[in-house]
Amino acid sequence: MKNLGYYNGKLGEIEKLTLPVTDRAFYFGDGVYDAVMCRNNIPYLLKNHIDRIFENAHFLGIVPPISKSKLEGLIWELCPLVDGTEKFVYFHISRGSGIRNHEFTKTPANLFIMIKEQKIDNIYEKMELCTQNDIRYAMCNIKTLNLLPSVLCAENARKNGCGEGVFVRDGFVTECSHSNISILKNGKLITAPADCHILPGVTRAHLIEAAKKHGVEVVEEKYTKNELFEADEIIVTSSSKLARGVKKIDSRPVGGKDEKTLLLLQNEIYGSYINATQI
Ligand code: PLP
Repeated sequence: MKNLGYYNGKLGEIEKLTLPVTDRAFYFGDGVYDAVMCRNNIPYLLKNHIDRIFENAHFLGIVPPISKSKLEGLIWELCPLVDGTEKFVYFHISRGSGIRNHEFTKTPANLFIMIKEQKIDNIYEKMELCTQNDIRYAMCNIKTLNLLPSVLCAENARKNGCGEGVFVRDGFVTECSHSNISILKNGKLITAPADCHILPGVTRAHLIEAAKKHGVEVVEEKYTKNELFEADEIIVTSSSKLARGVKKIDSRPVGGKDEKTLLLLQNEIYGSYINATQI
């Protein structure tokens, strides 16, 4: 199949799959999601992402309609049905279905899975970014379906010829529209703290681990937009980008002052991905 959609046991090509409009994802974005890369039909770090979606569901009082191990097994089963070597696997759990009412419905939660071919771009090619005000709410640590500010941020970045938009809240850098962002300065890795203003990315955690492994001091503290521009290197991380350096922000050249450490961390992250998905 060129792509795959799965909804509560129903399976088909995404474009042909029909969903009930009573699903609360449709009215309210009332659900949580996660996404992983898959290579050679091996979904990468799937357990971490399943743990996160279950934690997020629990936080919002959503009861997943499937156990962790069954969800893991289902994703492993569905991946080979889609053509390609590298794929993107998206899954979401919405609270349930019912006639539109803000208050929770009592119906079981719905599970949606989508798989499509997607290659990871060359991680060693540096990106261009543009900054924007972080207009999101104070629940960015929960990966909910409510993504409008992120969608607007990503589209604005695209229109400006950039690969990502960087959110800035009260002068401090939080994260990107769908990635985390960290900086290298004087040999240290600085990354915004995992509070309610960022999503604690699986790849961000991996970057922190890689830095510690290689003796790079990690500082989980707020840093300013000015510090972003003055950074030795800038690292954008996400499951589908892995770890990318940055060459320009708001059309101004940035980074390029500690390529050795940047490369060390990138190689660690890329190497783990390749090794874990080797057949
Ligand atoms: N921050 C936001 C807002 C995201 O949407 C994502 C990924 O979708 C990330 C960070 C990166 O998270 P991960 O590394 O778990 O993919």
